[in-house]
Amino acid sequence: MRTQSSNDTIETQGAPRSPKTTPLNPPPNFHVLAKPTGSACNLACSYCFFLAKEALYPDSRFRMTDELLENYLKQYIEAQSGDRVTIAWQGGEPTLMGLDYFKRSVEISRRYARLGVQIEHTIQTNGILLNDEWCTFFREHHFLVGLSIDGPEQLHDAYRVDKGGRPTFKKVLAAARLLQKHQVDFNILTTVHSANADHPLEVYHFLRDDLGAQWLQFIPIVERLNSDGRTLIQEGSTVTDRSVKPEQWGRFLVTIFDEWVQQDVGRIYITLFEAALASWLNLPASLCIFDKTCGHALAIEHNGDVYSCDHFVEPKYLLGNIQDRPLIELVASEKQRFFGLAKQDSLPAYCLNCKVYFACHGECPKNRFLYTPDGKPGLNYLCAGYKAFFTYIYQPMEIMAKLYRSGRAPWEIMQLLSEENARLAAAFATAKRNDFCPCGSGKKFKQCHGRGDQP
Ligand code: SF4
Ligand code: SF4
Repeated sequence: MRTQSSNDTIETQGAPRSPKTTPLNPPPNFHVLAKPTGSACNLACSYCFFLAKEALYPDSRFRMTDELLENYLKQYIEAQSGDRVTIAWQGGEPTLMGLDYFKRSVEISRRYARLGVQIEHTIQTNGILLNDEWCTFFREHHFLVGLSIDGPEQLHDAYRVDKGGRPTFKKVLAAARLLQKHQVDFNILTTVHSANADHPLEVYHFLRDDLGAQWLQFIPIVERLNSDGRTLIQEGSTVTDRSVKPEQWGRFLVTIFDEWVQQDVGRIYITLFEAALASWLNLPASLCIFDKTCGHALAIEHNGDVYSCDHFVEPKYLLGNIQDRPLIELVASEKQRFFGLAKQDSLPAYCLNCKVYFACHGECPKNRFLYTPDGKPGLNYLCAGYKAFFTYIYQPMEIMAKLYRSGRAPWEIMQLLSEENARLAAAFATAKRNDFCPCGSGKKFKQCHGRGDQP
């Protein structure tokens, strides 16, 4: 499965995992998200944390030069020891570089790939500039395209607008249809925010049924507002009104999970649910946010500056520039190692003692700006949502993990749940008011599923 994440990190699931032999000892499977246009974009989505990054490069034209492109690809490809290398483009809006730029990138990457190494290309786009020519190119070179859509028209257009504040839904829908027409491998990235968070099934049904998408990623919008009213540096614990609330995030995931686990397992791939199943199976986390440590997913700016992560493109997390110091040294640097380990080292005991710690691991450090009930810093803003979600999916995940371990397919859970629902419906139909409720709650039927207001 090839996955991609967006205003966020492209995940390392597809990246090599074989051990590294270089004496520099960088992480075995590091991944870099390249931003050839920096933060420059042809849209002005209200919640985009990256637009504010423009201030980091005041006089820049925000274009990665051809010379730097070649230097970067050479260093990146040569630094990888596995037999697969994923080249990932993001922004801003990377398609603003023009199609020829990406044609050059494919040609350069071929030139530097060792014999037997498979190069994979991914790009995250808002879809506005896509046309037949772009899609033919994507198809020909097997690009995995991540397309950003926030749900049906009115939910998408709530925040995803152009520079003039005009809606963008129709253009993005046209881009999705073009990708489908050309049979381009693509997934959908949906950010979850105050406008769409209370409409989980509307969003899910639109993506699954109307759009016909099979690969979905949901990313929570958590936008921190600084004392100066900007979002450039992540400070303080105030979030914008556009941000999703923790409980909303939990409800959003639970509601979609409920439908997915009964109808869509093995048919619709939702990265967060797949990642959760990996945790239940004790497999390596397939999303960096749920890993114990991080630091293997860096970001490179249009001028060659390398940052610890796409979510930390801030002066404090600048590792250096690949024109001054080799990329592999920046990745293997003490500063980056410290960044990755801090994810685990900074966790409060409240998380370490949490029942769902094995799946959550405190999520991404960028969201850890609350205090625990016992007054310790470092609790994730989304904690309440994750706790509710991971607790809710505990039993079904146990079932799917058990199926998998015994050589069966996790999707068989749908049949098991359907049989259980039929059994309960029959038991409810014959239960007497003072019987124990067949659902196993321990309450009397009349106080539980026999109450009249139960489904
Ligand atoms: S800070 Fe760590 S967990 Fe968060 S997105 Fe970056 S790599 Fe992933
Ligand atoms: S659910 Fe909350 S307490 Fe538990 S590990 Fe995640 S952030 Fe920490």
